[in-house]
Amino acid sequence: MTLLLKAQPLVDIRIAQMQETCLKLKAQGVDPKLVVVLIGDNPASISYVTNKRRLCEKVGASFELKQLPHSTSASDFKKIMKAINTDTSVHGCIIQLPVYGETKALRLEAMVDPAKDVDGFHPENTANLYLGRVEEKSLLPCTPKGIMSLLKYYKVELKGKNAVVIGRSQIVGKPISLMLNLAGVTVTMCHSETKDLKEHTQRADIVVSAVGKVNLLGAEHFDIKRKTVVIDVGMNKNAEGKLVGDCDFKSVAPVVGAITPVPGGVGPMTVLSLIENLLTAAQNQKDHV
Ligand code: NAP
Repeated sequence: MTLLLKAQPLVDIRIAQMQETCLKLKAQGVDPKLVVVLIGDNPASISYVTNKRRLCEKVGASFELKQLPHSTSASDFKKIMKAINTDTSVHGCIIQLPVYGETKALRLEAMVDPAKDVDGFHPENTANLYLGRVEEKSLLPCTPKGIMSLLKYYKVELKGKNAVVIGRSQIVGKPISLMLNLAGVTVTMCHSETKDLKEHTQRADIVVSAVGKVNLLGAEHFDIKRKTVVIDVGMNKNAEGKLVGDCDFKSVAPVVGAITPVPGGVGPMTVLSLIENLLTAAQNQKDHV
């Protein structure tokens, strides 16, 4: 019987814990606040931002959307970011992608103060992960952090296991490879130039797919005897306009041990991890006063 790694049971537990943490911080005079900087009105971005706002407000944190026009100059953007970085009432900030115009040329990942970098993209935070300096108070990239939480919640054994991570992006593939490695997993990273993907996935105990291709993985990619744990990060629209992952779910689910559904798997864990980072950042900033 294949285990469905749904996010909801863990999300419910974590929301209750975060509500408590938020109340404690408020009792100590800290009102955790997230600022999202958005350029333009891309409908997908607005929908992502709405999910972030909802969860923020649900746990009792404050939320502010700074929506800027497409014409925002690089120098105005830098001024806005400086104001956010120096505002002590703001504990976390993210720049919602994509950006437009002059701001596209900026090194966006370095523009949020590392202490407020709840996306975990700042080079300082990235370096800490690379160096293996990961602690409770670390601000880790949200999608990989969410995947690690999900694996822990479902008691997936990691030490000594073999994982194949497909995709090597800065936001998913690379950081999840590092996090799994730190957890004692032997990690193989695959990408668009990997010669025979099947050869790797068939030998894996854990497969993380972060590519963005409908039906990239089918039943033939798995050895049924291995009971592979599959984490499908992909978020794609299929021919019918339905949200699907990288796996052909119908054919893959029966031949693996566990799999994340799309939707309802990695997506909600990403938003959850963002708000967890916000509360961590607020606590860290309080401790450093
Ligand atoms: P990305 O930056 O576009 O990276 C995609 C990666 O896939 C690249 O490393 C690319 O290899 C690799 N790739 C492309 N075709 C391949 C193939 N045929 N075989 C093996 N590898 C292949 O994407 P991303 O930002 O990491 O996102 C990946 C997917 O996850 C997207 O669907 C995105 O929407 C989704 N996502 C979901 C969440 C969530 O919360 N659920 C969060 C983030 C992203 P090269 O490096 O060689 O080009």
